[in-house]
Amino acid sequence: MSNRVNSWQQAVCPFCGCLCEDLLVKMDGQRFSPLSVSCRKALAGFERHNGVPGLPEQEGTPLTFPEALRTAAQWIAGARLPLILPGEGASLEACRAVVRLAQTISACVDVPGPLPGDGVARAAAGMGDQSCSLGLLRDRADRVVFWGASPEQSHPRFLERFIAPGCEKTLLAVNSVLPDTLPVEHYSVDAAAVLGLISGLLLGLKQGNDALEPLAARLLSGLGAARAGVFVLGDGFLRQGEAVLAELFRLMKALEIRHGARWFALMLAEADHFIANSAALLAETAFPGSMRFRDGRAEYSPAEWGAEALLRQGGADLVICAGSPQNGWKWPGGVRTIVLSADHPDGKPGLWFPVGQPGWDCTGTLVRLDGVPVWVSGLEPGKRPSLEDALDQVRQAVLL
Ligand code: SF4
Repeated sequence: MSNRVNSWQQAVCPFCGCLCEDLLVKMDGQRFSPLSVSCRKALAGFERHNGVPGLPEQEGTPLTFPEALRTAAQWIAGARLPLILPGEGASLEACRAVVRLAQTISACVDVPGPLPGDGVARAAAGMGDQSCSLGLLRDRADRVVFWGASPEQSHPRFLERFIAPGCEKTLLAVNSVLPDTLPVEHYSVDAAAVLGLISGLLLGLKQGNDALEPLAARLLSGLGAARAGVFVLGDGFLRQGEAVLAELFRLMKALEIRHGARWFALMLAEADHFIANSAALLAETAFPGSMRFRDGRAEYSPAEWGAEALLRQGGADLVICAGSPQNGWKWPGGVRTIVLSADHPDGKPGLWFPVGQPGWDCTGTLVRLDGVPVWVSGLEPGKRPSLEDALDQVRQAVLL
């Protein structure tokens, strides 16, 4: 390592779905520091990852890797109803390893979703031709509607990289926080009225603006003037759930038919890894989550095999979290937990395997927020096993 002290490397930042590719990173002693950006999220990510312990732990007590593998294999062998949750930071390769492990141990798999109790990850995975590329947003979109978004909070460099420079787009913000320096037309809508507003806009397209309240009529005129429009949907919108998202997709189609404009959607969720995980499972199994494996084959039933429902009804006696658990995750009482993650998890899971973070100490393919897979090399590859390797080792230990 010493020959790399003070050397500069170019890196992809893995700490949010923007996957900024312009980081310059310097190794200083045993620590990496990003030098080319002042993104608070990137700085916090580097701070967290410098000095993460390298040994597995069982309830806080260090173990060797082979000891931890043996314990995991025993717990899995003793479980009747294992549940696997792909977590934050799981690469596409790791999602495939989740499926291999689930096939081997006949587990349920669920992606809990970026926000509690919603089906947005599933809806997002099926977005199809409505999804927006970052290039289209930056170069072609003439009208951008931020809805329930606070980009500076969730994706700190999003505006700087895709909107702000010489901004010639018309920017509308519904229940969003955008900097005063941007020319934005703001709308404020009661959260409970969002579904009604979108349905009203659909009606207004058929019957004309006169049928609408003044706010909705103004908004509809703004939307109708686009040639290429993008809805940037933040947590404040996605929290409304699958039905509201589906109604917005209907509105986008209706705007296209009525005005001959193309409309796209881009999810700007704080936990965009969960949307990517769901898309990865969809590519691997044809189901975006909440599935059960029996005899190596997957069956799909979101209502029965969703993590929340399983844990509430005692339908899982072992939880394996492949990646960092979702923010606010509560360890289920009386259920054994195994976590394989790059971050040291909060609380005390039964067993923790430290694994590499793609882009830091292992390689892997991460999914950018517009759905583009980006292969990232590591700054110190090989220091810790990748999540994919660790999951495959657990699987091998079970098969022994
Ligand atoms: S915006 Fe996201 S990817 Fe870009 S530097 Fe900040 S944390 Fe990293």
